[in-house]
Amino acid sequence: MAGKKVLIVYAHQEPRSFNGSLKKVAVDELSKQGCTVTVSDLYAMDFEPRATRRDITGTLCNPEFFNYGVEAYEACKTRSLTSDIIDEQKKVLEADLVIFQNKLALLSFTTGGTAEMYTKNGVSGDFRYFLWPLQHGALHFCGFKVLAPQISFAPELVSEEEKRGMIASWAQRLRNIWKEEPIHCTPCWYFGQ
Ligand code: ZN
Repeated sequence: MAGKKVLIVYAHQEPRSFNGSLKKVAVDELSKQGCTVTVSDLYAMDFEPRATRRDITGTLCNPEFFNYGVEAYEACKTRSLTSDIIDEQKKVLEADLVIFQNKLALLSFTTGGTAEMYTKNGVSGDFRYFLWPLQHGALHFCGFKVLAPQISFAPELVSEEEKRGMIASWAQRLRNIWKEEPIHCTPCWYFGQ
């Protein structure tokens, strides 16, 4: 879909890793479609993940008792957040699609355990349970429409051929990504049958 802007938020230390391959195939496929692809490579950028008072550059509303929510809200209005945060906010606002390629979080991620472990009766419970706070609590709450997650289960436990298959199915999905309907992001999707 030419002209669309895609932001990939990528968090992995090793470019030659499986996660690195998933990121690369997404950049290649979406660029081929004519999309403008921006990658926020959090490790390469040495992005500060902690929410601290250093995020606020202006005077604090209450220096005696630091409340991040209040201070960040005020700093956002007066544009006195640090430039690394403002830069990322701008990328998110400009993007038509945001892909989180992150070991722990969102749309596209890998797991340590197998698919069976992430079922209702598996040791980790249904994978949808741990997506609830991220997809619904964070993304949907912030106004995103959420697409189904791309989960590559246990790449460390499968053969090279199966790994190539997972990367290929991600590339295949991206070919039609603009036609996908968002998931029905309600408790039913996460906790229903
Ligand atoms: Zn939701």
